[in-house]
Amino acid sequence: MEREVIVVLGGSSGLVVYWRPMRGERHAFSPDRPPREGEVRSALCGTSDELVEPSDVDWLDPTCEECGRQARNLLELRQRARP
Ligand SMILES: [Zn+2]
Repeated sequence: MEREVIVVLGGSSGLVVYWRPMRGERHAFSPDRPPREGEVRSALCGTSDELVEPSDVDWLDPTCEECGRQARNLLELRQRARP
């Protein structure tokens, strides 16, 4: 069961999450498809908004605490599933 979840979340790319700046913080997005400008997407923490093309300065925003926590969990699950 756990393994299935990991496969869905991680895809075959090896990517755990996509990071995107949104509303002053960097949020994590599910890796099933890349976040694109103009799309309304929900981050792992539940924050959702229309995505904009981030500027260089936007990338310096602090990491969303909840997204950071969830991304670490996903990475841990992934590492545990791969011997
Ligand atoms: Zn977030």
